Amino acid sequence: MQLYEQQKLKVHNSLTGKKELFTSLNSGHIGMYVCGPTVYSNVHLGNCRTFMSFDMIFRYFKHLGYKVRYVRNITDAGHLVDDAEDGEDKIAKKARLEQLEPMEVVQRYTVDFHNILEKFNFLPPSIEPTATGHIIEQIEIIKVIIEKGYAYEINGSVYFDVVKFNETNDYGQLSGRKLEDMIANTRELTAQNDKRSPQDFALWKKAEPQHIMRWPSPWGDGFPGWHLECTAMSTKYLGETFDIHGGGMDLKFPHHECEIAQAEASNGKSPVQYWLHTNMLTLNGKKMAKSTGNSILPDEIFSGNNEVLSKAFSPPMVRFFMMQAHYTSILDISNVALLASEKGFNKLMEAINTLDGLSTAKETKFNVLTWKQSCYDAMNDDFNTPILIAKLFDAVKHINLIKEGKEFINVSDKALLKETIHNFVFEVLGLENKKSSAADTEKLNGTVALLIQLRKAARENKDFATSDSIRDQLVALGIQLKDGKEGTSFSIS
Ligand SMILES: [Zn+2]
Repeated sequence: MQLYEQQKLKVHNSLTGKKELFTSLNSGHIGMYVCGPTVYSNVHLGNCRTFMSFDMIFRYFKHLGYKVRYVRNITDAGHLVDDAEDGEDKIAKKARLEQLEPMEVVQRYTVDFHNILEKFNFLPPSIEPTATGHIIEQIEIIKVIIEKGYAYEINGSVYFDVVKFNETNDYGQLSGRKLEDMIANTRELTAQNDKRSPQDFALWKKAEPQHIMRWPSPWGDGFPGWHLECTAMSTKYLGETFDIHGGGMDLKFPHHECEIAQAEASNGKSPVQYWLHTNMLTLNGKKMAKSTGNSILPDEIFSGNNEVLSKAFSPPMVRFFMMQAHYTSILDISNVALLASEKGFNKLMEAINTLDGLSTAKETKFNVLTWKQSCYDAMNDDFNTPILIAKLFDAVKHINLIKEGKEFINVSDKALLKETIHNFVFEVLGLENKKSSAADTEKLNGTVALLIQLRKAARENKDFATSDSIRDQLVALGIQLKDGKEGTSFSIS
């Protein structure tokens, strides 16, 4: 008997707004699609959080014994600046600014994306298809949608007819919007726009002469609309209806709404059983944005090389921090929150290290089986990782009491406890116990703190030769000191 037959999982379905009992379309198999990155810049930490949530979900499904086909795409064409219907392609723009071939931009940032995900210990998806690798499939879907009467061609572009679609279907079913309200709230179209209604969206865009990313089509040279690639790739690899579609909540509208419309228009079926959306990651209480300077890259956290941080944090620790929030809640990242989380992370890893050496008794003081099921109950409640982590800390408390001789555990319960902790901490949450490196980091932090103190004392004694020498020798070792109002901090490059 597989675990998924015993554990009843509920997931929050954005389409219905309810927690629903999860049943896969094909027993024992799951098809899951997650919108991947547009590879025109370094991956954002917020995006990492989204992909990490689905990595955890993928891991839990696998742990339950499902065979999962997990498709996460790479958007390498068709995504326009500001997610707009008109304008420059994000990748083409970057290529123009950096004087690169668009595929050089794609390659560079795909490699960066994979590097960061590897540091975070992500499992690779089953398939990672690209938009440019599926132009033919996208053209075929457009042909079908035109044939069914839900799209029209004008001046070399093809638009989806939202008004026509809404006569027989529900445009706005996922985002909870009404087409009448959307139309009422839209300003008049500018004269040069070809669309029949402002809500219509592009399936194919005519390429202007200066547009370098272009492909031939029955409607002339052009490129596919952004929403279409996900319909093409999910249908190709998962079928017309599949189990789970995920993404950041900012994709709910218009991107996912349009995916539903395209699928229903082309094959008459609702494409997805359960829509899952992750919430935002904020920095110091504010939305992250490069333009305001309130942003941080994953590598800056790993090196401590950002002024909002007092030190570096390891990838497994940052992963633990993210898992401490439910994927549907807003999570705020800050130096204080990371420091607090690091204490918890170290405590958890220390307890895991202690576990092996615990001596056993004839009996067990606490009910390991009940505790084990409570871990599953947490995960079965819409992947509630913060509750799971609280349960893991219940076990940490018992481990420490057993170590101190205040409680006891028998041989079989100790084995069960170890197996369960390992399953949830490493397999499901995807954390890593880098014991030696964590201990080394601790020592390094202590050593640098000591040198900072000596430098401070030298400066107070006006011994600037010594204080400068300490600073310069640390720089030579790749350690930068930063003097601030709250004292001196450091980063490692
Ligand atoms: Zn998508």
